[in-house]
Amino acid sequence: MAVLRFSFGTMGSGKSTLALQIHHNLDSRGLQGLLCSQLDRTDGKVSSALGVSADAVEVGPLLNLFELAVAMSDRAHGLDYVICDEAQFYRPEQIEQLARVVDELDTDVYAFGLLTSFQGVLFEGTQRLLELADESVEVQVEARCWCGTRATHNARLVDGVQVYDGTLMVVDNPDDQQVTYELRCRRHWLTGDSGPDGTQVVAAHATASAQ
Ligand SMILES: [Zn+2]
Repeated sequence: MAVLRFSFGTMGSGKSTLALQIHHNLDSRGLQGLLCSQLDRTDGKVSSALGVSADAVEVGPLLNLFELAVAMSDRAHGLDYVICDEAQFYRPEQIEQLARVVDELDTDVYAFGLLTSFQGVLFEGTQRLLELADESVEVQVEARCWCGTRATHNARLVDGVQVYDGTLMVVDNPDDQQVTYELRCRRHWLTGDSGPDGTQVVAAHATASAQ
């Protein structure tokens, strides 16, 4: 029986590295795979923070993943597995298409993605994956908040100050603000506390909000 497995983790938890490792292991055994990603660091590739990369299909919002898989499985070598990176950004209906790939083509699907956004809510694609996956597993690489507690949340910082509103994806940056991301435990994600090194910034923020 084929399975739809969703592996989730924070930013920097090595999801892309794991996706590439699975692709490498199956590919080196002569299995035929389809590698998909979206809005990755490099166009049309799955790349990991460790510097490995492989060619991937860029998943636009209109791409029908089931039809793509059917087309590939009809070819001479067939299709043995599908690997989807950055799956949090996929449309809910695309996740449903992945479930059909498992059920109707008997092809394994390995999806990787973030659980929650910097706003602290489930991504659309993630929610549908949690609802439909046969297995949901956490990628755990002991990512830590500055306080030493396990990091479970992604914080977006604009000019060093944590923000909770804004577009999901920063495409351009007209104000020339410095957008960065940090891993936090829930407590420090909720309080927006950047820790001892960020004290000055947080204090400035507190002063600004008090006015
Ligand atoms: Zn913390």
